[in-house]
Amino acid sequence: MTQTPVSGTPPRILPEIDDTARQYWTAGADGELRIAFCAACGRYIHPPRPECPDCAGPLEFRAVSGDATLFTYTVAHQQFNPAVPTPFVIALVELAEQPGLRLVTNIVDCDPEALACGMALRVRFEEHRRGETPVFVPVFAPALT
Ligand SMILES: [Zn+2]
Repeated sequence: MTQTPVSGTPPRILPEIDDTARQYWTAGADGELRIAFCAACGRYIHPPRPECPDCAGPLEFRAVSGDATLFTYTVAHQQFNPAVPTPFVIALVELAEQPGLRLVTNIVDCDPEALACGMALRVRFEEHRRGETPVFVPVFAPALT
């Protein structure tokens, strides 16, 4: 039950890691963002599921570029968890690989006032531990131009 973050990363409530989503939460160990992909349909699926929602075929994880744009966001000022400092940014980002391929994440290393929908972002990973399991949480920061 202990969730001890690596020094330098903020505390975070970590997800249950099951087989369906394991690669999403751990591929950051290799510096990669991996997203479930249906080879039969030729498209990415997120969030990860046991099978393709369209053809019920098997999904495999593929590494994506980590490039994204900010689709929408909100800035949280209310501190619900005393261990999680505010403000923080909850965002829906769209990955470069496929229109509509969006994931919920946090934006880091950016003044919330400087955020703008459509801005270019790049993935980075926060390393945490859930018990003995390393978890690499994908977060996004403004892309360096
Ligand atoms: Zn499919």
